[in-house]
Amino acid sequence: MRKDYIKEQKARHARTVLAVLPIQYPKELLTAMDVLAVELWGPPGKVRGPGAGRLQAYVCAVARNAVAFVQAGGTKDVDGFLYPHACDSIQGLATLIPNFGGAGDKPALHYLNPKGEARPSSRRFLVAELRDLADKIARITGKPLAPERLTWAISLHRDIDALRLRLLEGRARLDLSDRALYDVLRRGEWLWPEDHLSELKEAVTGLAEGGAVKPKGVGLLFSGIVPEPMTIFDELADMGAYVAADDYAAVGRRVVKKPLVLKDDPLETLAWLMFAHPPCPTRATSLATRLTYLDRLVHRSGAVGVVIHTVKFCEPELFDVAGIKSHFGAQNVGVLFLESELEGELSGQTVTRLEAFVEMVAQRRKS
Ligand code: SF4
Repeated sequence: MRKDYIKEQKARHARTVLAVLPIQYPKELLTAMDVLAVELWGPPGKVRGPGAGRLQAYVCAVARNAVAFVQAGGTKDVDGFLYPHACDSIQGLATLIPNFGGAGDKPALHYLNPKGEARPSSRRFLVAELRDLADKIARITGKPLAPERLTWAISLHRDIDALRLRLLEGRARLDLSDRALYDVLRRGEWLWPEDHLSELKEAVTGLAEGGAVKPKGVGLLFSGIVPEPMTIFDELADMGAYVAADDYAAVGRRVVKKPLVLKDDPLETLAWLMFAHPPCPTRATSLATRLTYLDRLVHRSGAVGVVIHTVKFCEPELFDVAGIKSHFGAQNVGVLFLESELEGELSGQTVTRLEAFVEMVAQRRKS
């Protein structure tokens, strides 16, 4: 499907296609420059080739699977790669993938999101970083960035964010299973943004005005890197639970909730947007800021438990786990820590742990 879509985007729209490694990157800039971003979250499931063995076993599956996928020729239809500096693993892939083969001599672009809270110096750095990235993309596409296209792209992505937010915050009123909702949301990882927007518009028609569509059961906050395996949502539904609030880096943490602040230069507006994203340990947000944000998610959504569902060996995520556990533990909100290796489906042991957790928080809610 993605291969056909990529081919169609190239043939019909003459778009350049970049394979983009996780996590946060200035998608608006790519859209403005007619570049289709196809994100590479592993991919999940069966490892696509022997290349994963080139990395140590204690490197996360997102990085290991990506090496295997590229080496096995999975990215032969793209025109280049973008490596956002989410963590040391992704930064390392920027040199390892070209060396290991499979990527040919396709350009490897880098993007460094400043770490920590916004400061005048980090804003200046980011604007320069965005300008540099735009210049490098222009060398691939042969077309320089047009400021009015960037203004248009920023507006388009704000429309997308607004609908994604309505869907995520309106879970209790949405006549759609978690699995179906996440299928729609995650198609934004590779669809051209206008196509994604059309699908989101269709999905929000399932939002019932006022009141719940039907009782959805035990609401939980899910936090982690990427919701894989997606079968977790099927299992959850079978247990009478649902995702009341989302803090996945691949989903909710990429939805800007603050009203847009327009600057004179659209690159500065974009820099503002990058800092306006929800807290994420891959950007070294302080734990205190993150806990305040998660508290708000729990209380607004009515979630009765927190599931930290992260990728095994993900260092940035692990930084905050102890703090999140003790913070919610002190409020008597249950916390479950699950690790995934992007396997095709949940193990029986994980299903049992999730089931026991759902029962426990449901009991606590009654008592
Ligand atoms: S899962 Fe964590 S360690 Fe792995 S690539 Fe993503 S942010 Fe980096």
